[in-house]
This record gives sequence, structure tokens and C-alpha cells, in this order.
Amino acid sequence: PRKLSIDYAAALNSQQLAAVTAGEGPSLVIAGAGSGKTRTLVYRVAYLIDSGVDPSNILLLTFTRKSAQEMVQRAGELIGARSERVCGGTFHSVANLLLRRYGRSIGVEPGFTILDRGDAEDLIALVRSQLGLNEKDKRFPRKGTIMEMISKSENTLRSLEEIILDEFGHFADHIEDLSRLKTAYQSAKRQKQLLDYDDLLVMLRQLLLLDETARMTISRQFRYILVDEYQDTNRLQAEVVRKLAATHNNVMVVGDDSQSIYAFRGATFKNIMEFPQLFPGTQIYKLEENYRSTQPILNLANCIIDEAAEKYTKRLFTRKIDGPLPSLVEAAGENTQSRFIAQKILELREEGVPLSEVAVLFRSSFHSFDLEIELSRKGLPFIKRGGVKFIETAHVKDLLAHVRVIANPLDTVSWNRVLMLVEGVGPKKAHDLLAAIVKGGQPFDVLRGVSGRSGQGLKSLANTLESLSGAEARSPSEQVNQIYEYYLPILKEQYDDYPKRTRDLDHLHTIAEGYPGVNEFLADLALEPPDGSASGVDAPDRDDERLVLSTIHSAKGLEWQAVFVIWIVDGRFPSVYSFVADEDLEEERRLFYVSVTRAKRHLFLTYPINVYDKSSGMLLSKPSRFLDHVSSDLLDQVALVEEGGRGEWGRSHDPYY
Ligand code: ATP
Ligand code: MG
Repeated sequence: PRKLSIDYAAALNSQQLAAVTAGEGPSLVIAGAGSGKTRTLVYRVAYLIDSGVDPSNILLLTFTRKSAQEMVQRAGELIGARSERVCGGTFHSVANLLLRRYGRSIGVEPGFTILDRGDAEDLIALVRSQLGLNEKDKRFPRKGTIMEMISKSENTLRSLEEIILDEFGHFADHIEDLSRLKTAYQSAKRQKQLLDYDDLLVMLRQLLLLDETARMTISRQFRYILVDEYQDTNRLQAEVVRKLAATHNNVMVVGDDSQSIYAFRGATFKNIMEFPQLFPGTQIYKLEENYRSTQPILNLANCIIDEAAEKYTKRLFTRKIDGPLPSLVEAAGENTQSRFIAQKILELREEGVPLSEVAVLFRSSFHSFDLEIELSRKGLPFIKRGGVKFIETAHVKDLLAHVRVIANPLDTVSWNRVLMLVEGVGPKKAHDLLAAIVKGGQPFDVLRGVSGRSGQGLKSLANTLESLSGAEARSPSEQVNQIYEYYLPILKEQYDDYPKRTRDLDHLHTIAEGYPGVNEFLADLALEPPDGSASGVDAPDRDDERLVLSTIHSAKGLEWQAVFVIWIVDGRFPSVYSFVADEDLEEERRLFYVSVTRAKRHLFLTYPINVYDKSSGMLLSKPSRFLDHVSSDLLDQVALVEEGGRGEWGRSHDPYY
């Protein structure tokens, strides 16, 4: 046999090694947090290449594109730059690529536009008003809810009717109208060459079902398929994997059912349990040694997940026996919580834990607002993940809408946005103009034909767009630049905080410079939006000098020396909304398990007490119920007193009493 270039046995334990060097056929690696699942995939990639597989025959599917890039890079450190030809990305980004290449046969043109969630909802509203559906009816679901229903049905491969009856029973009266609306929404998208996120996967599945030639070509190209975080895939994605692998069944998936946290998007941990049925002959590997955390942290993690109703039983052990006990910190109020964390981070830095090894995790993005103020006050730079995305801010959407109508003149959602920005154009006028454009009028002539108050603005819009839609395609950065010039006066008129917003647009321009073509630029922004740029204090642009604030959902798969999980208060974590249904509470429990297992050495669970929760009318005052069964010797319990307002610590800078 070939001589391998890496000593795999030295870098891996025996179970990991067995998975990495497995032969052809399906395999499943199921194991708890920090046991080296992702590492196993990285070595698997290296091993395949090492054994002579052409890197372009390997498909690596991950939860974010960033993690795919990191994994490919790590494989590169093992095996050399060849690994860069591995095709890595998310299900959605791979679907995007394949549909642009092969989609024609099922009616998907290569120039299609991807609708982000907000755009998709706007289109639903547009279609609803075109159908004249119950516009005055307050009990008709809102566009966001309608989107959620449609999306659930697509992702779970169940009918819309079933989803409504099952989960949205209070809208059962509207089933017929909602079905009509769904049909109209689908055909509006088709006509205008728009695909929402779900369509990317739905259409890919269609392609693999209907176009035999494409299926064979694709399946032959991706001879080895690897999937990380398989517990967070949904039925549709499992189907796509099965179809992709149809000719060879060389699929390796890794995951942890206890970390399944995307049920609200239709994911199901049952996928991982049922993998062996879907792929007969599956080899199963279990990893039991945890290399990430110290024993005291694992004790707590094991204790939390022991209470779970349904799980594939596995125990974790570690050789890192020593370490501080996790702290459970009760704070007299939110501000006390914030000050404690900032103070602790400073202390940890003194002890040699760099900011880049610190993360603060929370259930919902708004939970960190008070802390953000405190961190800025203390001059601690941070980057926030999983909050409002840069691309979701109004001004960035405004500018991009112009780029999108140039790329796809049928994109009525973006037209609507662009038109409404012009002075003197309201919903009615925009609607009429749109109707004229859709009827096949030359858009620019239609705009120039308008007189009156909005005439001047529309002319200038037409000139800008026309100058950019010439035969020779302009680069994305040139487009962003010119539209910026046109848009700046509008921006200044609309927002009094425009200086901050222009910085975001500068940032957009920088991103655009990285792309030769407009389609790739737009698709990437829709699929992998960069994190908010305006958050945090001004600091060097290097990630390694900042701490991370993140929702738990966005912290999946990652690890830090020190982790703070905040708002561990019953009613927020678990959330009051999860008290009703057992399965929701179980999902919150898994979320909690994910959060504590991110920590390598220092773990702080903090909660403020006596907080009045407006939406539920509850006084939040006890720690999360997930700690009820945790014996007190597993935690170091601390209570903090409030000392005045946001300011100095009362007693000699000592937060404890
Ligand atoms: P999660 O469930 O959180 O995604 P995981 O199972 O994917 O975790 P990894 O992130 O791959 O775990 O590994 C956790 C840490 O343990 C990493 O720092 C990794 O490098 C280290 N590790 C894993 N296996 C070994 C090993 N055999 N030898 C040394 N370090 C290891
Ligand atoms: Mg992992």
C-alpha cells in the first residue's frame, strides 16, 4: 500500500483512528461534546487525500462556511495545500453552486437571486395584497408567521396543512387561504427567478430527483461526503445527502444528539438516530474521551444532560483532572452581573488568559445589551456574533437592493425598496410603477416618464441604474461605489446617525472588492452574512485581541479557556415560552449543555435576581431549573450585593460578600 505521510496513530485515540481510516461505505461517529468529532473529520480529509483521493472528490458539509474553511485549512497544515481543492461549505452554499451550474434542467436560471428571510417575508406580504387576502383581518397570521409555516413544511417534508393543524392550530380557519398564498408565493418566486433559503435545498433535491444526468455527474464528483454537526440537519438535508451519495454511499457523518438545538428550524436529532436505517451497513464509532474541558466542568455537563428525556447514552471522561469548580453567581441586578463579568475578565487577563480565550454566551441577543455598555466603559473590546447581521440593517439593504435590481430586473422585492427611497414615492406610486415595469415596460423609460414631485428623483435613479447595467458587466465594487454616490443624499435625509451608517457602507465596499462577479457577491452576502460591524469599541481589527459575545446557537462547535453563560435565570433560560411543551424544554436543556461544554477551564454561570419580565409578567428570581438536580458540591456558589449605580465597587473593589 501507499506510504502515508502522517503518523495518524500518534495524533488520535483508537476510536478516532478507526473512524479516520475507515474503508468505503457509510459511517456514523456519535459522541459527546469535545470528544474530537470535528478533529476526526479534519484527519479524515487529510487521510483520504493522503491515500490518493483527489481533493476535489471530497465534499465537506458544515454548519457555517467559516468552520468549513477552518477545517480545510487545518487539513492543509497536515497534508499540504492540496487540501484547498476540497469542496467545503454549508448545505445552502453548496446547493447554490450546484444549482447555478446544473439548475437549468429544472427551470432554475444561473442568474437567480437569493432572498434573505426579510425579503422573503416582504414578498409574502406583496403576494398577499395582490391576492387581496383578508387584508383587514387582524386574526390572519403575520408575514413572519406565514414564512415560518411554509419553511417548516419545506424542511420537514410535510404538507402545509399538516404543519398548521399540528403547530399553528389557532389559524386552522385560514388553511385554504394560506395554501393559496403559498402557491402564489411559489409561483411569484419562480417567475422572477428568486429563491429563498429553503428553495435552495428544495430545488437541489428536485434536481437530484428529476435530472438523472446531473445526479450521476454530481454524485461521481463528490465520491466522499463528510458532514459535521449532523444532529442539526433536517429531513430535507438528510434526503439531499442520501441522493448525493446514491452511487457510492461513502458518507461519514459526525454529531451529538445531546447538542441538537435547531428544532425550531425543522432540524431533528432523529436524523442521527436513524442514519443507520437510511444507510444500511453503517459502521458506528463512539468517542468517549473529552479533550476540551476539566473534570469539574464535565461533571456539571454530565449532570445536566443526565436529566434529558431522550438520549443516546454516553459518558465522557477526561484526563484533565484538576481545575476550578464552575461558579454559580447570583447578582442583585443586571448591572451587578455586568460589572462582575467585566471585572472577572480583567482579572483573568491578569492571570494570563488572553481576551481571545474568553466568551460570554447567552440565549438571546438582547441579553447582552447591558454588558456591552459595561465592556465599552472598561475599554474591553469585543466582537458580537449571532445578533442582528450587518446585512440586515436598513441602509445596507437599501444599497444592495440597487445592486440586485441591476442583476435581476425581475426582482420586485428589491424594486419596491429602491422606488420607495425616492422622494415623493409612496406605496401606491411604487405599486403602479412596479406594475408598469412588470408588464414588460423598459424599466428606465418607465421611470423617466414620470413627472411631478418624484420625477427628478426617478430620473436620477434611472440614470444611475442604467449607467451600471451596460453590456460590459461592472465589478461589484464599482457598482457599490456608484450607487453609494447616488444613495448618500438619501441616507443623510433619512437617518440622523448617518456617519455610523456610512462606515457600514464603506465596509460593504471593502467586502465587494473581494469579488470579481456580482452574482457571487450577492449570493455570499445572503448565505454567509458577516457579523455586525458597528458593535464593540474601536479596536484593532484583529479577532485575537477581542473577546467574543455570542448567542449559544452561534457558539456551536467552538471552545474557549473561559466561558461566562449569563442570564441563567428561570424564565429566561429556560425561557417561559418553553414551559408549556416538554420537547421545547428538552431543547433548552440541550442548549444549556452546549453552552457549558464550550469551556476548557473557567466556567461562570451568572444570573440577576428580582428582575421583572414584562412579557410574561413574572418576577424572575431563581436560577435555572436545570440546576435543580445538580448537587451543590459541583458548583462554587457566590452572591453579589448591589453597590449603587454603574460605578465603582462599594467595598474595596471586592465584589463578594
Ligand atoms: P463539539 O461537540 O463541541 O463540536 P467535538 O467533538 O467536535 O466537539 P473537537 O472540537 O474536535 O470536539 O475537539 C475538542 C478539542 O479536543 C479540540 O481542541 C481538539 O483539538 C482536542 N482533541 C480532540 N481529540 C484529541 C486527541 N486525540 N489528542 C489531542 N487533542 C484532541
Ligand atoms: Mg465539533
